[in-house]
Amino acid sequence: MKITMESETVISFANVSTNYDNGHDILTDVSFNIGSGSFYFLTGPSGAGKTTLLRLIYQLHKPTKGQIKLFGQDCNDISRNDISLLRHKMAIVFQEYSLISHMTVFDNVALPLRVRGFPSDKIKKIVTKTLEWVGLGKFANVYPVELSGGQQQRVSVARAIIIQPAILLADEPTGNLDDENASRLMELFIQMNKIFGTTIILATHNKKMMETYKFPIISIDNRHVSFSGAHAEESARKWKGPKPQSSNYFSEISKQFENIGNS
Ligand code: ADP
Repeated sequence: MKITMESETVISFANVSTNYDNGHDILTDVSFNIGSGSFYFLTGPSGAGKTTLLRLIYQLHKPTKGQIKLFGQDCNDISRNDISLLRHKMAIVFQEYSLISHMTVFDNVALPLRVRGFPSDKIKKIVTKTLEWVGLGKFANVYPVELSGGQQQRVSVARAIIIQPAILLADEPTGNLDDENASRLMELFIQMNKIFGTTIILATHNKKMMETYKFPIISIDNRHVSFSGAHAEESARKWKGPKPQSSNYFSEISKQFENIGNS
């Protein structure tokens, strides 16, 4: 996949309001544009509507008013088929790791590729590389229950990124992790964003994390959305984390996908 350097809009909300079961508005008149390749924190008090915002983007919930566009496509009156095509370009990671307990780590991560009909030799190569990238190369044949929370969350990240999503939505992914595992996970997300150009929106309460990484912040408060940290893009570029070892990973994975496309 090509890394887009110019910031084309991939998510656009225009005057979006939403509620559940015709109750009171959770979000009212929300408008914003998210550019390709950007990284945003999403924050706000518990119950403010962070999950609802992510669900609106992933097309799991509908606005009662306004318009959402994804990759330029208007999502009002969109067909089921088009929703599923859009979802193929997106992935969600939750606070609960949502792994399938009776499947091995390998099979959990392979699942999105199997659903898409990838041949098994390609699946083996891609899953093996991806597990190495998240530091779990040795755990392919174990079951989720045998792993720590941090390891399980890295399996769920591997499963999310294996389809090379253009957009990654992460709903408090570090909520159950200690500082060390949370930092490790953040580094994986940052590598995806920097090397692969994935647009990331990561919901969190963790102030320390937001201060450390300084990505721009989308805040939800009292049904409305505001943005802060306008200069954060520059800070992100100066990020001095461990040197990404994943450029090989990404070029190899991309090659596998290109081969599929050409075959
Ligand atoms: P956050 O992620 O910021 O904690 P949520 O988006 O989960 O907030 O929830 C926002 C509000 O919507 C809360 O008041 C919550 O109770 C309500 N809500 C969330 N999901 C549902 C649902 N499926 N049905 C009814 N109300 C819901």
